[in-house]
Amino acid sequence: MQDAWTSHEIWVFECMNCAATWNEELDARHYGDGHGNQAVVYERGGQPCTTPWVDRSCPNCQSQNVKALSATRGKHSEVAKVRSGSDVAMVYHLRRMHAW
Ligand SMILES: [Zn+2]
Repeated sequence: MQDAWTSHEIWVFECMNCAATWNEELDARHYGDGHGNQAVVYERGGQPCTTPWVDRSCPNCQSQNVKALSATRGKHSEVAKVRSGSDVAMVYHLRRMHAW
């Protein structure tokens, strides 16, 4: 059985050269193969894109000396709550299917 879910992540970037900061919103598609292996594909606006921490250049000075920070870490409890909620819904759904 395969499972997949999407988490919405906000990444904050900071240029080490000119100190500009900006952020990008990305959707992380998590794929599990049911055997404990997991792959993550990042999407931006529905299009696959590179992982947030590589190949980023500063929009201000074009420097590639950019630091990426995940801004979602401060919201971990909130994300966990949403995730467990959808897991419960999924389990409930599966139970109903088995019941049939
Ligand atoms: Zn810069």
